[in-house]
Amino acid sequence: MDNTIRIGIIICDRYKSCAGGKCLRAMKEKAGAFEIYDDLEIELVGYTSCGGCPGGNIEYAPNEMLKNRVDVIHFATGMVVGYPPCPRIEYFKKFISETFHVKVAIGTHPIPEDYYLIHQKFGTWNQDEHDNLLKPLLANEDVRLAYQ
Ligand code: SF4
Repeated sequence: MDNTIRIGIIICDRYKSCAGGKCLRAMKEKAGAFEIYDDLEIELVGYTSCGGCPGGNIEYAPNEMLKNRVDVIHFATGMVVGYPPCPRIEYFKKFISETFHVKVAIGTHPIPEDYYLIHQKFGTWNQDEHDNLLKPLLANEDVRLAYQ
């Protein structure tokens, strides 16, 4: 039985020079959005940016990842916590899942505490997002501080 989940990560182009430290660490620790793969081996089969607003690489990157048999494409946490969060997340998710028939997950590593506090202050996330979409990324204060 194949005990491996193949992951692709798409990051917000505003962070294109990011070395992926928090995402890779979360993959290793099975933290944040990777918590659900607790009993699986995670293999990273693609890592790229959206290509910059309005996200031109969303049209091409999934196909590259599919050639490496990607199972789930994760949007990096930076898309959710940037100032402002990417306004196109839902469109990207629908486009990728309906065009390429691949699962899409929102987020990668836990939200760092400093981003969490500022967005809480700004009221960035509505209650539904807070309860559903962001739940795996919120973790708890200790984890958020560890990912700061
Ligand atoms: S805000 Fe959205 S579209 Fe713009 S660079 Fe970031 S992820 Fe890409």
